[in-house]
Formats: sequence, C-alpha cells, structure tokens
Amino acid sequence: MDCKQFYIDGAWVDPIEATTVDVINPATEKPAGTVALGSAADAEKAILAAKRAFKTFSKTTVAERLEYLKAINAELIRRNDEIADAISLEMGAPRGLSRNAQAPSGPQHFGAVIDVLEKFEFEETMGTTKVLKEPIGVCALITPWNWPMNQIATKVAPAIAAGCTMVLKPSEITPFDAAILAEICHSVGLPAGVFNLVHGAGDTVGNMLTSHPDVAMVSFTGSTRAGVMISKNAAPTVKRVALELGGKSANIILEGVDLEKAIAVSVKSVMSNSGQSCNAPTRLMVPAALYDDVRAIAEKAAKSVKVGAPESDAHIGPVASKMQFDKIRGYIKTGIDEGADLIAGGTDMPEGLDTGYFIRPTVFGKVSPDMTIAREEIFGPVLSIMTYETVEEAIDMANDSEYGLSGYVWGVDKAAAYAVAAELRTGMVHINGASLDSAAPFGGYKASGNGREWGIYGLEEFLETKSVYGGAA
Ligand code: NAD
Repeated sequence: MDCKQFYIDGAWVDPIEATTVDVINPATEKPAGTVALGSAADAEKAILAAKRAFKTFSKTTVAERLEYLKAINAELIRRNDEIADAISLEMGAPRGLSRNAQAPSGPQHFGAVIDVLEKFEFEETMGTTKVLKEPIGVCALITPWNWPMNQIATKVAPAIAAGCTMVLKPSEITPFDAAILAEICHSVGLPAGVFNLVHGAGDTVGNMLTSHPDVAMVSFTGSTRAGVMISKNAAPTVKRVALELGGKSANIILEGVDLEKAIAVSVKSVMSNSGQSCNAPTRLMVPAALYDDVRAIAEKAAKSVKVGAPESDAHIGPVASKMQFDKIRGYIKTGIDEGADLIAGGTDMPEGLDTGYFIRPTVFGKVSPDMTIAREEIFGPVLSIMTYETVEEAIDMANDSEYGLSGYVWGVDKAAAYAVAAELRTGMVHINGASLDSAAPFGGYKASGNGREWGIYGLEEFLETKSVYGGAA
C-alpha cells in the first residue's frame, strides 16, 4: 500500500518531483499506506507517453482491443478480493460492499464495454459519404474516491475500446485500487503508453492534464465545483470535457404504494456506502397526509442500519475522510438549526464508536424546499423528507434543484409513475426501485454534468466523427 511510483510508458517510475503523504484509513484514523503526489512535470511526461502510443494504438483492430479488454477483465475478476480489501482500507467501505459491489463494478463495466465493442459499427454509409468513428486521442481521466474502481472502469474500458490512450489521475484519497489496475494493465501486456497512472492533487497534476494541448478529452467525475474549474481550464485548447458531477436526487412516493417497502428501501439506499453515492435518493417526497406513517417507518429503517468497522458485519462503514466527516456533521447541525424534524441520528458518534469517521444514519422530516439540507449535496448518510399536497407540487419540488442527476418514483399504477418520470429534469429515473443497468447511459442534466457513461453511450464519448465525402463504394 505504498504508491510511491507512477506507471508511465509501460514502466513504474519515480516521480520527477513529489511530496509523499499518508493515505488515512478512515475507520482507524491511522495511516494505511502512502501516496506520492506528483507534479505538473510528471503529468506532462505521462501525456507525452500517451501521445506517442496513440500513433499505433489508434490503428489497432477491434479484435486486438477486445483481447486486451478481456485479459484485463479476467484479472480484475481474479484479483477481486485484493481490490476490495484495498478499497475498504482507503475509503472505509464494509467488506461485504467492497467484495460484492465496489470491486466487482470493475469487471461489470469492462464486461459491458466488451459486449458493446463486439457489435459496434465504426463505419456507416450515408449516401455517397462514408462516416467514420475514430478514437479522439489522448484522454485525461480524473476520478473521485466514493466508488473508485467503478469510476475508473467506466472511463478506462471505453477509452481502450475506442483506441484512445490515457492518463489516469485517481483521487489522492484512494490510490490503492488504481495502482492494482495499473499492475493488471502491465501484466496483460497492454502496449507501453496506452494506460498511464499519475497520482496527485487537482491543482498540480489535474491542472496540467486539463490544460495541456496534447490532451484531446477530459473525462471527469467529481464535484460540480471542480467540474466548473476543469471546464474553464480546458476551454482555451477546445477539448471535449465530459462531466459526471454531483446530485441531490428526488424520490417521489405516490399515494397507494406499499409504504413499508418503499420507505425502507429508500432509506437503505440513501445510507448505503455511507451516503457517498452521487445518485443517492436524498430528497424523499411524500404525500402530506402520510407523513406520520412515513416518519415512523423511516425512523425504524434508519435505526436498523448498523454502523461499524469495515471488517465487521456492519451495513455501513465510516465516511471517507476527516474533511467529509466535518462537512457532513456541519450539515446535520445546520438541519437542526434551521428547524427540521430530527427523526433519527444526529451529530453524535454512533454508539460504541469513538475513533474513525463514523456518522449516525440521520433522517430529517418536515424539510422545506428552502432549507440548506434540501438544496445542497451532503454526500453522507443523511435523508431529507419533504411533503407535498399534489403530484404537480412534488414534480416542481423535485425539479427545483441546481442538480439533475437521478430521480426515483414509486407508484402502484406504473403508467402514472412513468408520467412523473417523464416530467423530471434528470438524466436517469428509477421506477419502483428498479436497479441501474450497465448497458444503459449514466449521467445527469444541469449542474450534474453533461456526459453519458456506460454501454454504447460511454464508448461514443471517446470517439470523433469523420465524414469522408465521396468515400462510399
Ligand atoms: P472532487 O471534485 O473534490 O475530486 C474529484 C477528482 O478531481 C479528484 O481526483 C481530485 O483530485 C480532482 N480535482 C479536484 N480539483 C481539480 C481541478 N481543479 N482540476 C483537476 N482535477 C481536480 O470530488 P470528490 O470529493 O473526490 O468526489 C465527490 C463528488 O463526486 C461528489 O460531488 C459526487 O456527487 C461526485 N460524483 C459524481 C458521480 C457521477 O457519476 N455523476 C459519481 C461519483 C461521484
């Protein structure tokens, strides 16, 4: 767990200039390893390696790229538990979640991209014109810490499938799983320079990656704040910038649904991964007449979420860092100060835990649309319950957000639920608890971003389109 080197041009190399910092295990607050934070010069070295590799990798056949993807996929599956343990150590996910969801999200996306690539048409005829899909070039991939392998895989797999070369800068909070992926790319013989890994901070390595003229595209997942800065930084060189940003997703419960089921699932879904999922249904909207019933079910559901060490049988572990811990507790205090009804949880540490960044699963009721906890992304295990009188009011409240990542609707009448889904200004909507689908596009409207990852949409983001007039046979 010592990430003191970077993977550049097919080899592990020492940083040109680096500061080494501890990677903190959020469950113990003790160092779990170290990471070297690189400089702009390290980033540029990786960009130039990727630029050299693009000349040949962009010309590889689909069959060759499929072979690389399948080999990486097989290694991700083989090393699942090792990746899972690394993720638990760096960001605190409980072992069950790491082994059954966090680590397997890697092969899940590699597998989905393999399926897409096997059928994808890189050429199309339009009249007398041949339209070609070509790899866009060198890509900068910048990822967060909350689902670290998931976000890396949703970028690396389609970039390889497209024939692009890349520099990955994972979150400095979660470098371990990314280093294992670099080892895998090396072990399967991915050509030198196709995949490069540089650890570092946003304002040094990140800045160089998003402003360098030889980078054709930035694929970024993270906060809206950083997404805006990256877009500005990328503008002078007219790069493609694909953004997957924050969220404050609404969850509308229509009258008549089985409340016990819908509310219990909804609460669990917010708390999962300690509330650190961009698409978590953090604003629960219920008919005002049902508030008392909802309150009781939500209280029971939140209190049944066991918080504890990653290696225990807890449902949720700590949040990922001291910064998150302080920020989330600050929001809980604000919710109390602004007069929301504290149904469960609060700012105290969970019972029996006095070390580690653990937060009590918290539910607020009687949250009004103007409260801070109804508007800002908290990114912790905190649910805000709001009430509505009419479905139109619920839709307006749902859309009254700067974000537009996901939406959730529960209804006995599927057509009525679908009609509400159609009104939501979000990139995704789940009806009656339907799961995500790695073949379908993932992304948001408004301040939640402009990109679409996963499946065919994810591959197309890494492609340029060329019309060859008169090129058709
Ligand atoms: P963050 O924006 O602080 O950091 C994300 C990454 O960007 C890190 O690697 C960081 O080093 C880098 N970075 C920060 N500033 C940069 C800059 N100016 N230039 C270049 N790189 C920079 O976000 P985070 O705290 O790691 O992650 C949490 C956020 O990510 C939440 O807002 C969450 O909603 C969002 N997120 C979105 C999705 C999605 O698909 N929409 C998925 C997961 C997380």
